[in-house]
Amino acid sequence: MTGLFGLVPTMGALHAGHLSLVERAKSECKYVGASIFVNPAQFGPAEDFSAYPRPLQRDLELLEKGGVDLVWVPTPEEMYPARFQSWVTVEEVSRPLEGKSRPGHFRGVATVVAKLFNAFTPDIAYFGQKDAQQLAVIRRMVRDLNFPVKIIGCPTVRESDGLAMSSRNTYLGREERKAAAVLFRALSAAKALHTAGELNGDKLRAEMRRVLQTEPLAVLEYVSLADPETMNELEKIDGSALLSMAVRIGKTRLIDNLIL
Ligand code: AMP
Repeated sequence: MTGLFGLVPTMGALHAGHLSLVERAKSECKYVGASIFVNPAQFGPAEDFSAYPRPLQRDLELLEKGGVDLVWVPTPEEMYPARFQSWVTVEEVSRPLEGKSRPGHFRGVATVVAKLFNAFTPDIAYFGQKDAQQLAVIRRMVRDLNFPVKIIGCPTVRESDGLAMSSRNTYLGREERKAAAVLFRALSAAKALHTAGELNGDKLRAEMRRVLQTEPLAVLEYVSLADPETMNELEKIDGSALLSMAVRIGKTRLIDNLIL
């Protein structure tokens, strides 16, 4: 604990999920830094970069209350000055799932996280399991590029009906918010099948699809049962496995996952 510096990178619009990372960092590190940066490089042209919530004053108060020692809120111009042209591309693990749905997303994530690691030089950095593929991409980048930082993945914080906390949940209308609980129900149903002995990937993916279809407002983008390190789809489980999905509820795109 002596002298350790922990970093919690965020895009702001903080909720209890973010604050759980801060809490974990506080419990393990002497000093904790956080960043708030809505990273344009990780949003596609048709995505919600301009609409993304930016309640900066509230965020700063929450971080201060949480005991964060240092917050950096860079502007896009500071992060990507004129003639910026150096990008970090993590190859295979970035390709499927979120990478396929959101081309360029992980290039933006890996680049900004690399820059944050260089700016803060943390001993430990904290990320949410909520963004499981992001965590896998960052772990790969840290190993491949010898970043001297330990990566900690923290459990997903959920609302009482199971919906994973997300800054994007604020986009949901009342009916949509109710409907959004179907993601966790679908993941839980597949997990229950697995607990009962099912190891077949197709059967577990079909179970998630089946439950998602019971919610008329939910439009499925993908369901997956993959290796949590490589993100490759599994035919059969023989070790740890990641159930994940992306679903649209109205205009809002939600992702969630469970580790088996
Ligand atoms: P974001 O602001 O969405 O970029 O998220 C910042 C960090 O918080 C990332 O490491 C996320 O994985 C993590 N995070 C987001 N939502 C949750 C949640 N519900 N529980 C735990 N961590 C989360």
